[in-house]
Amino acid sequence: MAVVGSGAGGSAVAGELAAAGRDVLVIEAGPKWFDPLGTHVRNVYHSEADLSRVGDIIYGEMLSYPSGSSEPVGRLADLKVAHGTGGMFALWMGNCPYPDSGELPTWMGKDEWAPYFARALELMHIDRNGGGSGKMFEALLARTRKAIGARPAGREVMPMPFAARRIENRLKITASDDLFFRGAGSLPNLRIMTDCVVRGVLTDGGKATGLHAALRTNQNERIEIAADTIVIAGGTVGSPKILAASKLDTGPALGRYIHEHVCIGSRVTLKQDIRELIRDDEPVYSIWVPFSHGRPWQNQLCRFTLSSDGGRLAPGIREVDTSDIFTFVAMDVTPENRFIFDHERVDPFGLPHTDAAFGFSRDDRERIGAAMAEHFLIASEVGDVQAGWTPSIYPAGGSTHFMGSCRMGEKDDGESVVDRYGKLWRYENIFVADNSVLGTSNAGNPTFTTVAQALRTADRILGRSGVA
Ligand SMILES: Cc1cc2nc3c(=O)[nH]c(=O)nc-3n(C[C@H](O)[C@H](O)[C@H](O)COP(=O)(O)OP(=O)(O)OC[C@H]3O[C@@H](n4cnc5c(N)ncnc54)[C@H](O)[C@@H]3O)c2cc1C
Repeated sequence: MAVVGSGAGGSAVAGELAAAGRDVLVIEAGPKWFDPLGTHVRNVYHSEADLSRVGDIIYGEMLSYPSGSSEPVGRLADLKVAHGTGGMFALWMGNCPYPDSGELPTWMGKDEWAPYFARALELMHIDRNGGGSGKMFEALLARTRKAIGARPAGREVMPMPFAARRIENRLKITASDDLFFRGAGSLPNLRIMTDCVVRGVLTDGGKATGLHAALRTNQNERIEIAADTIVIAGGTVGSPKILAASKLDTGPALGRYIHEHVCIGSRVTLKQDIRELIRDDEPVYSIWVPFSHGRPWQNQLCRFTLSSDGGRLAPGIREVDTSDIFTFVAMDVTPENRFIFDHERVDPFGLPHTDAAFGFSRDDRERIGAAMAEHFLIASEVGDVQAGWTPSIYPAGGSTHFMGSCRMGEKDDGESVVDRYGKLWRYENIFVADNSVLGTSNAGNPTFTTVAQALRTADRILGRSGVA
C-alpha cells in the first residue's frame, strides 16, 4: 500500500494500515527533518528559552510556497506548506477544537463520526482540559466568559483541547511520529522514502496499479512504485495537483470548493490585575471560545511564544504579560473558489503549475465584521486596547488551515471528488486522506477532523466497519 505524504492525514492512515500488518510505503516529497521520522519541531527544540528560535525556524525555514516554488499560488499570498517528514503536522500547535455539528457535512450522521473522533482523541493524546491551569489562566478564562456572555451547553468558553502529553516533565506535542509508530518503535512493515515527489497515479481501467515519481535531486529519472492501494495525502494543494497530473476521471469538482478560516489576529497587553497573577515560568496556554449555531467563528486566546517580535512590546512589558487573540471565521464553500492547473507549465516538483481564483462573498464579509466586533469585546475585557493595539486580518491563505480541493460528498453529483470514506468516486483503490477532503464551511482548526476522517479511510481499506 502506498501513502503519498507524511503529514497529519498520511501518517494517520499509514500508521493504521501498518498496525494491521499491511506492507506500507510512505512517499514524502520533502527531506527527513528529524529523527524519529515525523517528530515535531518543538519536541526537538524543547527548551522553553529556545521557543522564539522555533518560531524563526518554522516561519523562516520550514514553511514554503507549495512545491518549493518562489511564487505564491495566485493571489493566495500567504498560502504556505511544509515539505518535509511530518508536513505541516511537524509544525502545528496542537489546538484541537471539537467540531460543532454545524461544521460537519449535514449528510453524515453524528454516529458516523463519534467512533473516529474517539479514536483520534486517543491516538493524538488529546487532553480535553489541556489548554492550561493556574491562577492567571483561571482569571483569563473568567474574563473571557464575561466578555462573551451566556453560551449554549457544550460550547461554553473552556480550556482548548490540546494534543500533547507530558514526558519527563516537558510538553511533547503530538506529531506524525505518534501516529506512525504508536509507541511500538519502528515497524518493519512501514517504510518511508523521502525527497521523492509523486507525479502521478498509474491506472489500468478503473483501478490504480501504482505511482510514478522522481527524486527531487534527479527529476529526469522516472521511478515506478507498484501498489494495490493508493492513498494520496499531499495536503490541500499537493493532492489535487497529483490527481490533476494523473488525468484521472475525477469529475468537475477537482481543485474546487477551496476554503479556509479568515484569521483575525491581535496581541494585547493583559490588564494589570491579570498580570499580577503571572508566574515567571507561566506555561503556554490556550483558551477556546467555540463555534456555535448563529456565531460561525471561534476565538482562541493563547501564548505560545512563537513570535519573536519582542521589540514591539511597550517598555516594561514582557512577552509573558501579553496574550495573542485569534478569531477564525468560517467562509462560504463555493465551486468558484478554486485552483486552476496549467498542464503546459510545470512547478519546481514537475507537477502542473497552479493558480487560484479566490474571493469572499457578501455573507463572508458580514461574518468577518461581526467576528471582528467580538474580537474587540474580548481584547478590551482582558487587555489594554488604548495604546497601539492593532488587530489585523491575515492575507488569504494565511490561516494555515487551507481546505477543500478534493471535497468529500454524499453522491457522485459533480460537487465532490471522494465519497464518505475518502475513496475516489470512479476508482476502487484510490483514496484521499488530508485537509483537502474537508468541504464543509467550518471555523475549527482542522487537524483533529482530518485525522478522524483518515482513520475512517483506513478502516474502509482494511474492510473494517468501525472502531471498537
Ligand atoms: C505553525 C502552524 C501551526 C498550526 N497549528 C495548528 C493547530 O493548532 N491545530 C490544527 O488543527 N492545525 C494546525 N495547523 C495546521 C495543521 O498543521 C494542518 O491542518 C495539517 O498538518 C494538515 O495535514 P495534511 O495531511 O492535510 O497536510 P500536511 O501535514 O501538510 O502533509 C502533506 C505532506 O504531503 C507531502 N507532499 C505533497 N505533495 C507531494 C508529492 N507530490 N509527493 C510526495 N509528497 C508530497 C508534503 O511534503 C507534506 O509533507 C498548523 C499549521 C502550522 C504551519
